[in-house]
Amino acid sequence: MRWISTKPFSGAHFAVMPWDLVEPCVLAGSRPGDEVLVQSLTYVGTFQAISAAGATPVPCEVDVETCTLDPDDARQRLTERTAAVVPVHYAGCTGRFDEVRELACANGLRVIEDAAHAFGGSQGGKRIGSFGDVTCFSFDGIKNITSGEGGALVTDDAAVTEYAVDSRLLAVGRDTQQRFAGTRSWDFDVRHQGYRYHMSDVMAAIGRVQLARFERELKPRRQLLASRYAERLQYLKELRLLPLNCPNVVPHIYPVRVLDGRRDAVRQALARHGIETGIHYKPNHLLTYYRKEGFSLPVTEALYTELLTLPLHPSLTDSEQDEVIRVVETALQ
Ligand SMILES: *Cc1c(COP(=O)(O)O)cnc(C)c1O
Repeated sequence: MRWISTKPFSGAHFAVMPWDLVEPCVLAGSRPGDEVLVQSLTYVGTFQAISAAGATPVPCEVDVETCTLDPDDARQRLTERTAAVVPVHYAGCTGRFDEVRELACANGLRVIEDAAHAFGGSQGGKRIGSFGDVTCFSFDGIKNITSGEGGALVTDDAAVTEYAVDSRLLAVGRDTQQRFAGTRSWDFDVRHQGYRYHMSDVMAAIGRVQLARFERELKPRRQLLASRYAERLQYLKELRLLPLNCPNVVPHIYPVRVLDGRRDAVRQALARHGIETGIHYKPNHLLTYYRKEGFSLPVTEALYTELLTLPLHPSLTDSEQDEVIRVVETALQ
């Protein structure tokens, strides 16, 4: 798929910036004042990537069932300055991504997928990363696969590729390709701001081993744990589960919604049994750096009081998971 814009984007305005110093994310046409639609319910890394590129993140609501970007809410926030939309595949689920893409196509927006949670997943039989405009993966230590630190950007846009490849090594033109070919030149040119965001060989070696383990071990284990949770927890009327048990999703986290104001009680019960939980995430529009007077997102703020992330990682054993489930069941009795 080749992304076709109805807006004049020029390669000269592309900006490359890190997600946590290592993962480049490309924003087309990023100039001060450009706006980027993004769900508020995401890790601050998504917001920081947008603001680091000089653009303004515009916080949007999420779809309550999947915690992915709500295209109807995003549509209301379009302005003349909207340049891109950043859907987050929350917990690995693509949610209403097709509608987000339609919205983007109709309005000439770049689509930059935050697929930090979604490595190895697919949608409609296609791998995530194989059908989008620009897709960003994270290989941070806790993600579906890791290279210690690092990430990857996938795109079929030649201009984005060239810009990202040059930018990761101080924007020295075609430096990576020439170094690997043994033809590094001392007569080079630099046309834009560059960074030191290339992946080291040490990280790449870790990543390659993880890649081999992924299909065999990491992916099936994550999927099995998610389906065991779903099987046992779906009957609790105070819980709402996210649709994470389908074969398309390789869940990075296992968030549930605890209704009736009982989230913190469940969380404390788990903590008393030595079981750590998470809250994904504090909405970004509530953070000092991104807060705007009088701005609120009711759906997102309500979700923030309900969401509870249960342990899910490949080394979690069946009996440990059974214990988590037992404590949740007891706390909700
Ligand atoms: C982890 C994460 C990131 C950042 O990835 P890094 O590789 O740590 O920079 C961005 N977005 C989301 C949703 C994440 O979970």
